[in-house]
Amino acid sequence: MAYMRSVPRAWRERKIKYQLLGGKCKDCGKSFYPYRQICPVCGSTNVEQVKLPEKGVIEYFTIVRTPPTEFKEYAPYVLAIVKLEDGTKVLAQITDVEPNEVYEGMEVEAVFRKYREQGPNGIIEYGIKFRPVK
Ligand SMILES: [Zn+2]
Repeated sequence: MAYMRSVPRAWRERKIKYQLLGGKCKDCGKSFYPYRQICPVCGSTNVEQVKLPEKGVIEYFTIVRTPPTEFKEYAPYVLAIVKLEDGTKVLAQITDVEPNEVYEGMEVEAVFRKYREQGPNGIIEYGIKFRPVK
């Protein structure tokens, strides 16, 4: 029963993703998402975990019409680079909006949503998506 083992892992990741935890480099000052131990900008390992702002604007987006099989039920969907209030850039799916209504500069906020489902009896993973600010 391989999926039994992965349940606790999914729950652990759920917490991390929901809080939008990123990393901030103490050497070059850049913050990034998701958190990792090595700064993607300067390669420093002097990185601390920080909670990122949950609001930002869409800087760039693309409409995905032919996604990988596991995301088929969501197609077409919008994948965007969201620039958070502190300047951190996050690659995420945009939800709760028609793809043709999305525009660059649109204000969005992070929400906690179903990410993917692994088979009919499989586990459901949750993650961060962004939706337009009402
Ligand atoms: Zn750095």
